[in-house]
Amino acid sequence: MTATQQDETPVNGTTPRHVRVGILGAGFGGLGMAIRLAQQGERDFLVFEKAADVGGTWWANTYPGCQCDIPSHLYSFSFAPNPNWTRTYPKQPELRDYLRKVATDHGVYDRIRLNTEVTAAAWDEEQARWRITTNNGEYTADVVVAAPGPLSAPSLPDIPGLDTFAGTTFHTATWNHDHDLRGERVAVVGTGASAIQAVPYIAEQAAHTDVIQRTPPWVVPHRDRPITKVERFLYRTFPPLQRAVRAGVYFSRELLVPGLVYRPRLLGLVEKVARKHISDQVQDPELRAKVTPDYTIGCKRILPSNKWYPALSRADVDLVTDGIAEVKPNGYVTTDGTLHEVDTIIFATGFYVTDIPLANIVTGTGGARLAEVWHRSPQAYRGTAMAGFPNLFLLVGPNVGLGHNSIVFMIEAQLNYVMGALKAMRERGAGRVEVKPAALESYNDGLQAKMGDTVWNSGGCASWYIDANGKNTTIWPDFTFNFWRQTREFDPAAYTLQPVRSGTAAAPALAS
Ligand code: NAP
Repeated sequence: MTATQQDETPVNGTTPRHVRVGILGAGFGGLGMAIRLAQQGERDFLVFEKAADVGGTWWANTYPGCQCDIPSHLYSFSFAPNPNWTRTYPKQPELRDYLRKVATDHGVYDRIRLNTEVTAAAWDEEQARWRITTNNGEYTADVVVAAPGPLSAPSLPDIPGLDTFAGTTFHTATWNHDHDLRGERVAVVGTGASAIQAVPYIAEQAAHTDVIQRTPPWVVPHRDRPITKVERFLYRTFPPLQRAVRAGVYFSRELLVPGLVYRPRLLGLVEKVARKHISDQVQDPELRAKVTPDYTIGCKRILPSNKWYPALSRADVDLVTDGIAEVKPNGYVTTDGTLHEVDTIIFATGFYVTDIPLANIVTGTGGARLAEVWHRSPQAYRGTAMAGFPNLFLLVGPNVGLGHNSIVFMIEAQLNYVMGALKAMRERGAGRVEVKPAALESYNDGLQAKMGDTVWNSGGCASWYIDANGKNTTIWPDFTFNFWRQTREFDPAAYTLQPVRSGTAAAPALAS
């Protein structure tokens, strides 16, 4: 399957290999794009993936307990249902295998260049094409679809003295499987989605575990369970049943939108469930107080777990709520001056989201870097297109993120949109498509105008949804079907489409 990866060398002397579409990343977004192109008969594309296999976040994150908190039937491509999911919420190995199978079944593996990291992508105005630099040579592409994933660059806190620590450190997203935690004193920094899944497993191994909490998450009971053989048989023999379950899950999750977006008070019922979960699972009043958030539920991602509070309640687990002042060779010192001796520090401290590394390596017209253009507040038209970056489409770009529903739904909506853009280019003989700055601005003004009342902006928490300038440039503030409606068709009026100049790149011509 992967033996064909190096069959085509990109560089022949000084001539980069040219493709119509270059896709960055082979997670849900990049694979989905590859498959949509292949379904149209297009083979002139390549996917560049820095990892050793496909899967994106579901390839990279291998920490113990890693599991998607969106149900399996929904967290999958609509065009590739899997009747064989073994659990209602898929664990990481099953999701990774699902994506491998989808890539195989749709015949796109041979278009994927694994172990190939894109180190620069620069727009060449003269040639009207992108120049893509990788660790395996140079490529050019008429169009680039970037699917780097918003949660792919692990973020480590800048703690004084961290480099002096004599023990072991790693991030949940780059789990060190060679390191044995058994019998160790372990500190876990962070109490987000990754931590609450990993800590119950860490606590079982370690002699003692400190969980360092800055802000408690709201946690609700988890409905995860095995899917029975009978259910799987029914899904295999009667696919409409699985589609109905998928639709049911989708709409039930959309029921949260009125509370999240318009009236956070509507989330009161969910908060009651979460408070009851605390009182059911935490007996110690002091611990109860520590784990009870003081912000509106939904402001940060609502996390499902039945194992989190029991793990924190263990005699060999301490929930540390004083911040870390510094790290010493033998442990960490909290702000009250106490030295906590530990052997290993595990960071469950999240990712660079509003400052994705890709923005530093992409340069558009006039050599402007995307990060400079964004000024730490990413924005894109329909979450996909940026002015000054012709023929570039970004998947799960600014304000496409979700806290309550499946990101795969949003990705598929964006794929429709990009396919529409490519079709428009072909039909109009255009070799260059660029969103109009005015369209970009008014789209984002509209989004930001909606943000004020949302729970993410008004719920009284500090979250990674909010960027360095205080703007929520991460979350889609509406029903997701409205995003689907907006991206169902490409809207050429918002773009400048220009014909190919003679002697320059050919317009992407999709087989129809
Ligand atoms: P995260 O939600 O960003 O959580 C990071 C945690 O680290 C937070 O508790 C944060 O505290 C804490 N933290 C950061 N810097 C710190 C510091 N200097 N000192 C102390 N604590 C610090 O990251 P994540 O848990 O990896 O999850 C990220 C996202 O990935 C999720 O929201 C979700 O979208 C996705 N995810 C999904 C799943 C799933 O499907 N089950 C699993 C994992 C991740 P504050 O809250 O105070 O900032």
